[in-house]
Amino acid sequence: MEGSGSVVILAETAESGAPAAISLELLGLGRDLADGLGADLSAVILGSGMGDAARELAARGADEVIQLEHASLSTYNPELYQEAMLGLLKSFTPRVLLAGHTAMGQDLLPRLAFSLSCGLVTDCVGARVEGGQILFVRPVYGGNALATQRVTTATAMATVRARVGEAKAPTATPGEVKVIEASFAAPVRLEPKGRETLEDRECPLEEAPVVVSGGRGMGGEEGFALLRELASLLGGAVGASRPPVDSGWAPSTCQVGITGKVVAPDIYIAVAISGSTQHLSGMSEAGKIVAINKDPDAYIFKVSDYGVVGDWKQVLPAFTAALREAAPEQGGARWA
Ligand SMILES: Cc1cc2nc3c(=O)[nH]c(=O)nc-3n(C[C@H](O)[C@H](O)[C@H](O)COP(=O)(O)OP(=O)(O)OC[C@H]3O[C@@H](n4cnc5c(N)ncnc54)[C@H](O)[C@@H]3O)c2cc1C
Repeated sequence: MEGSGSVVILAETAESGAPAAISLELLGLGRDLADGLGADLSAVILGSGMGDAARELAARGADEVIQLEHASLSTYNPELYQEAMLGLLKSFTPRVLLAGHTAMGQDLLPRLAFSLSCGLVTDCVGARVEGGQILFVRPVYGGNALATQRVTTATAMATVRARVGEAKAPTATPGEVKVIEASFAAPVRLEPKGRETLEDRECPLEEAPVVVSGGRGMGGEEGFALLRELASLLGGAVGASRPPVDSGWAPSTCQVGITGKVVAPDIYIAVAISGSTQHLSGMSEAGKIVAINKDPDAYIFKVSDYGVVGDWKQVLPAFTAALREAAPEQGGARWA
């Protein structure tokens, strides 16, 4: 197989079966890196019946798409995905393998990097080519500083946050799709019994254009019902800082921050959140940040584009009513 020295992205699919937004963004980033290195760009997609997704990846900038097919790959299974990828990586040595900083990327890339003794940079917020080398940028010290890192092994692996790359428009000359039937030597020791997506459906934070997050100052679950209503009116999703998750007011899939999800929506509305570095490192890449907080000295105002000093119990109902009045036809919830 060709592909040694190439830039490779590991693609994932959304629930619809189409390539996930993060994978199209990775393709965009991969294209920039490949152009900078004068290398080819390949995408690898694992699953069952992945033809449409593979063709879309080929149309969105990949020179080549490798479609690794097997019925057992239809749901993420760490052992089988690892074995399938290791089998593939026997045939060529990519210059770099990029995956999203998603649940799958965070699980699979360390396995691959360990198995192949490759350098791995996780949680990247940037990657660029300089002097023929790829430099990866990632937050360190709880998000208080950015480190630029270079991997010295033949293959560099990296997980990349959402919205770091920019998806490219479809091209008129799509790349080639190669279908490879995966086979597995070892008996399967792990058999996923299904996929629980209930909470994810309520909170697809990474893809939401608007995120309305609540903090400890919400005081309880009731406040989150109001946040859900506001998010629904704005076509967005509900997030939370860590204290509401620890207190059980919001599911853990909603947590934004260094130990939660990293989001970069167009608009992030932080309600009753003080603005700790652990929280900011999960949302500071948002297009516009709006803060509602009763403490005028709350740090969140320092990083916000717009701020409302006030009690959310007064501000939120008025804001929600004004929105409903301004756009009554937007009563439908996009993510519900
Ligand atoms: C290892 C580690 C990892 C962590 N990971 C994360 C993480 O991933 N995400 C995360 O968020 N945190 C994380 N934390 C916790 C973090 O340090 C902060 O404690 C947390 O972010 C604070 O959440 P908060 O802003 O909601 O609460 P607080 O800091 O208590 O702020 C509450 C805010 O609400 C305001 N408020 C109160 N009542 C009202 C009202 N009625 N109207 C308007 N405003 C009001 C207050 O003025 C205050 O600013 C982590 C901590 C550690 C040690």
